[in-house]
Amino acid sequence: MKAALVAQDGSVLYEARRPTGREHGTDAVVATILDFAADLAQEGRTRFGAAPLAAGVAVPGTIDERNGIAVFSANLGWRDLPMRKLLGERLGNIPVALGHDVRSGGLAEGRIGAGRGVDRFLFIALGTGIAGAIGIHGGIEAGAHGYGGEIGHVVVRPGGPQCGCGARGCLETLASASAVSRAWAEATGDPDADAAACALAVESGDPAALVVWQNAVDALADGIVLAQSLLDPSTVIVGGGLAEAGDTLFTPLRAAVTERLTFQMPPKVVPAMLKDTAASLGAGLLAWDLLSMEVTA
Ligand SMILES: [Zn+2]
Repeated sequence: MKAALVAQDGSVLYEARRPTGREHGTDAVVATILDFAADLAQEGRTRFGAAPLAAGVAVPGTIDERNGIAVFSANLGWRDLPMRKLLGERLGNIPVALGHDVRSGGLAEGRIGAGRGVDRFLFIALGTGIAGAIGIHGGIEAGAHGYGGEIGHVVVRPGGPQCGCGARGCLETLASASAVSRAWAEATGDPDADAAACALAVESGDPAALVVWQNAVDALADGIVLAQSLLDPSTVIVGGGLAEAGDTLFTPLRAAVTERLTFQMPPKVVPAMLKDTAASLGAGLLAWDLLSMEVTA
């Protein structure tokens, strides 16, 4: 877990990390989150002589932002957890915002990261799976049911590999860091070969690696062009483990996107800036948004 004390302008005053301790079960994870938040508030008092005015928490899985409920997380094991209420009680009833981890990360990238000053962007995180967030007017469009931006489950290869969501050929079965690791392990016969190793092999000109890599790049470009046709963002921000490959990813990806465009205006395809702190910074921005809404109201 990543946590931060965030000033009103989005600057980071203090950062900390802690393991979730999920091997000890869901109740332990929740207790760790609450303890971590309380310790962070105490850190604020000690360092700055003031407790935080509000708190934000960003979690994976399905969430009900309006009611502050963490509905379901396969990784962390909870169901219908009243996260906002629990955290508010623990922190002395300050306002608490609950956000989705990827959308919060996208929010931070949009306001204080790679999308600063950009009115419409698409944020794509290439990790174990592929998740995304639609940035518009300084916020994130979550959709009617909280599933907006799920570009990982856009089908780019009909009848392709089975996806965990039940469909076949979803983008994340082809272009996530896990998908590239799988494909490279299969190509090399080395079960430990991963996406980072594939990127290195691409850089050294290994033809088998180039095939694996280009397959992922092509799928990703198909997904981005689909999103471009629907949403017309000016910027596509790509983060997550696979984006660590830098130009090895971005150079062929920009070319593959450009060659697929017909009428669409080309988006700028840029690397994310905030790395794995994006979601915690986004949670901080959500907390500040709560306070500015209170003032407006
Ligand atoms: Zn899927």
